[in-house]
Amino acid sequence: MSATSALLGPAEIRDLADLLGIQPTKKLGQNFVIDANTVRRIVKAAGVTAGGTVVEVGPGLGSLTLGLLETGASVVAVEIDKRLAAQLPLTIAQMQPGADLTVITQDAMTVTQLPKNPTTLVANLPYNVSVPVLLHFLEHFRGITSGLVMVQAEVGQRIAADPGSKVYGSPSVKAAWYGHWRTAGMVSRQVFWPVPNVDSILVGFRVRETAIGTEEERLATFALVDAAFGQRRKMLRQALSTVLGDSATASAIMERAGVAPTARGEELTVDDFLAIARAHTR
Ligand code: SAM
Repeated sequence: MSATSALLGPAEIRDLADLLGIQPTKKLGQNFVIDANTVRRIVKAAGVTAGGTVVEVGPGLGSLTLGLLETGASVVAVEIDKRLAAQLPLTIAQMQPGADLTVITQDAMTVTQLPKNPTTLVANLPYNVSVPVLLHFLEHFRGITSGLVMVQAEVGQRIAADPGSKVYGSPSVKAAWYGHWRTAGMVSRQVFWPVPNVDSILVGFRVRETAIGTEEERLATFALVDAAFGQRRKMLRQALSTVLGDSATASAIMERAGVAPTARGEELTVDDFLAIARAHTR
């Protein structure tokens, strides 16, 4: 079978959906990629090669899965929809016999162990849960060193935003805890079936070689981030008082951390939040 025929196009996607009696649901963010060029672009930007182990969240009908397997990588795919999960090995066996795929039929948010340790995360994420799923996998699978995800454009821009940007928020700081993020290009709505009513973007990441803090510090930092962006219009000494004590105590802790108590959450880097968490326990 030639390389070009090993991926799914619009006709194959429709046929598979008909075969399974699938009506894509919004609830599960089911917008399937029907364009082989987009799949190859994602696989290339993710840097997936033979020998790697990739975890894919939400393989759906297998469009991206086939692109990942085509490189010779092993893929562990986590799919919540039982009908899709049951069909996937059959599709792969037919289109890329011998490819190394393991399918886990489960809600990705509940997965804490996998049969193989993935080094790369690549996914066209279900839009309604994209950030929680991403953070969940980075938290639980520390062997992941890099990845590339397709998400709703606003969400992707937020994840990759720097402090001071209008869209900088809780997902940006939490993502920065784990590593460095970059947007890697917009994706046309026309490459999906059904066509979504939002734009999509690719976001790549590289995990830090050394974690910036302990697990306990991460939890304390994330609690501060939630408090800061839960009341983003307030100065931090007020917004953080729910976690740090009253506003005077919060100010003293922030000063010890070298952060102005009058600052607002969107001005702080992840290191600033971590410094406050550390000053709190000193
Ligand atoms: N990867 C496929 C593609 O690119 O064509 C499908 C992507 S579609 C945007 C999202 C997929 O995630 C769907 O197959 C959906 O059933 C699955 N999904 C939704 N919520 C999920 C969850 N919590 N855990 C695992 N899979 C989920």
